[in-house]
Amino acid sequence: MQGLMQDWPLLISRLIDHAERFHSQVEIVTETVEAGRHRYTYAECAVRSRKLAQALERLGIKKGDRVGTLAWNTYRHFELYYGISGMGAVCHTLNPRLFPKDIAWVANHAEDQVLFFDLTFLPLVRELEEHFKTVKTFVMLTDQSNMPKSLPANYLCYEDLIDGGDGNYAWPALDENDAASLCYTSGTTGNPKGVLYSHRSTVLHAMAVIVPDAFNLSTRTILPIIPMFHANAWGYPYTAAIVGCKIVLNGPHFDGKSIHTLIKEEQVHITTAVPTIWLGLLDYLKETGQDLEPLEGLGIGGAAAPAFMIKAFEDFGVNVHHAWGMTEISPVGTMGSMNSITARWPLEEQQKLKQKQGRGLFGVEMKIVVADGSEAPWDGKTFGALYVRGPWTLKRYYRANDSALDEDGWFDTGDVATIDEFGYMQITDRAKDVIKSGGEWISSIDLENAAMGHKDIARAAVIGRPHKKWRERPLLIVVLEEGAVLDKDSILKFLTGKVAKWWLPNDIVTVDEMPLSGTGKVKKTGLRETFKDHKWPDES
Ligand code: AMP
Repeated sequence: MQGLMQDWPLLISRLIDHAERFHSQVEIVTETVEAGRHRYTYAECAVRSRKLAQALERLGIKKGDRVGTLAWNTYRHFELYYGISGMGAVCHTLNPRLFPKDIAWVANHAEDQVLFFDLTFLPLVRELEEHFKTVKTFVMLTDQSNMPKSLPANYLCYEDLIDGGDGNYAWPALDENDAASLCYTSGTTGNPKGVLYSHRSTVLHAMAVIVPDAFNLSTRTILPIIPMFHANAWGYPYTAAIVGCKIVLNGPHFDGKSIHTLIKEEQVHITTAVPTIWLGLLDYLKETGQDLEPLEGLGIGGAAAPAFMIKAFEDFGVNVHHAWGMTEISPVGTMGSMNSITARWPLEEQQKLKQKQGRGLFGVEMKIVVADGSEAPWDGKTFGALYVRGPWTLKRYYRANDSALDEDGWFDTGDVATIDEFGYMQITDRAKDVIKSGGEWISSIDLENAAMGHKDIARAAVIGRPHKKWRERPLLIVVLEEGAVLDKDSILKFLTGKVAKWWLPNDIVTVDEMPLSGTGKVKKTGLRETFKDHKWPDES
């Protein structure tokens, strides 16, 4: 016997319809690319998203066509999220931090028909123009007053384009499993791979991260610094439309001062970013002696949150949520929040627990698989390959022939992790970054986190280098705080007791800057290349 409830396809257009009706007066604020702060309401955003859909139809875009965006977090990018997916096309967010040749490769692989881009990227787009094989129309996300003169005829102005419609447009009735958006992984090895989200996976993910134990948006104001060009900005553009929280978008402004100004002036309660951004904000707070009022919650994800960072923000009275995810899982998999047992632990213990990446959301099944293929116990100690399964985890990469899953439908994340008896997962490493010393594994992430607590160290990364006796040993690479000089003994002494003795790095070296990937993570491939000939102090 079947249930007797309605079929109501989970479509992205329904989110913006809902926001228009129920949160019509709530603001979306943007620190713009051009200069100045723009503000309007969800109701205005909804009308403009429909005007955009009309414009896309005029440009000949059909259901399933890919439409590229190369843009910061702005209200126009927000409209693109809804206008493109809502009319049945696929919103392909390109990551401007990729190498130019990779941007062209990705646009060609996706066969993007139109490319919407921010003013910032005009030189890049002009440089790549001849390499884009399928893009017919380029649309600059600006108004006529900011349009440069003498551009080719296929360069259009966004505001003029959407002005051609009246917003009187009915979203098409799509299948909830139709493709909605596309995002490529950063591809540290080989070509980037496309992850093609559906309307259903997007809406389910957005609903799952609303809960108080995850983003807890409710009536708050959010500043999602996580870029909209990377894994749907953790789904905030969709989640926000469900709950109707005020959204503050930072455009191309990522420095500590700009972020702090937005928090204060727009009265932000919740903000999210990768650790690199938070280092900038903490530096700014240290320099200026400012506080973070009225911030309540701060999400850290994309890379491990070091202990000192969690403590530093909590000392400001801000609740830190450590999150883990990946492009392939839409992207959120786990969120760090207390449960009814751990919430009673002493604060120090809770902060320690927050170094773990959190518990799986409903909709993200997890397991740890060890070398012999068996499943590891959830004891917080046994680590192995982390596998996931669920309705917003991919099953196959875009245009790939083979499934990305094993025969039981599990996706191997490429991360190595433990899960404890309370269900808190902790990432030990990327499988390819784990250091194998004398047959035992050393977690580069744990070592990095510990090192980041040293007063002289601004950034830390650990890589494995070949060693005659142990096969591989850890090399600690640091960026020093301004004015500090490298004192290896002091660092080793500091690490002693914080990590197992046999984990202590065999050497410590400095670099002026950490090489960062397109998504703001330390590029260990770059470091391995730089230090490929590094000799251990005890080697001749
Ligand atoms: P991406 O698909 O570019 O977002 O990268 C996903 C990868 O980033 C994951 O597979 C992890 O290796 C890493 N990652 C994401 N969040 C965290 C976190 N909180 N701690 C440690 N690693 C993380």
